[in-house]
Amino acid sequence: MATMRLEIVTAERLVYAEDVELLVAPGIEGELGILPHHAPLLTVLQPGELRVRKDGQDQFMAISGGFLEVLGNKATVLADACEHATEIDMERAQRAVERVQEQLKQHLPTVQLEQALASLRRAQTRIKVAGRRRERPGAPPSH
Ligand code: ATP
Repeated sequence: MATMRLEIVTAERLVYAEDVELLVAPGIEGELGILPHHAPLLTVLQPGELRVRKDGQDQFMAISGGFLEVLGNKATVLADACEHATEIDMERAQRAVERVQEQLKQHLPTVQLEQALASLRRAQTRIKVAGRRRERPGAPPSH
């Protein structure tokens, strides 16, 4: 099976560095599927789910947004924050959702409203990705 190098980095750490068969990332205009030997690409990612296929098995990560570069059979994701499904603290994400719900009960200035909605989006993504832990390895992803 053809592979490409995938590296996912944040300002804090190297999250992932493996040879993979497929990357599916949340582009600003929808899901982007990247296969080995993809044409060069530089694009912005929005908060959402990253899916990586390695040795025929799909792994899931939550990303808070960032950039994706594909060049020379290597994909590099520069992420604001990124967690493997197994690393996500579900209770923390649920607390973040509740915090935003409380904030939204008040009238917020536009900037704070946008921040609250972005926080909600990150937390909802984390909850969704953490839910993938219960899925059978190799099973088709649920939506
Ligand atoms: P919170 O409101 O819970 O602090 P946040 O969305 O503001 O979350 P970020 O600024 O996106 O958090 O991330 C800060 C750091 O915390 C990053 O390293 C990120 O990976 C980590 N992080 C945030 N939420 C979680 C979570 N639910 N489980 C594991 N790590 C998390």
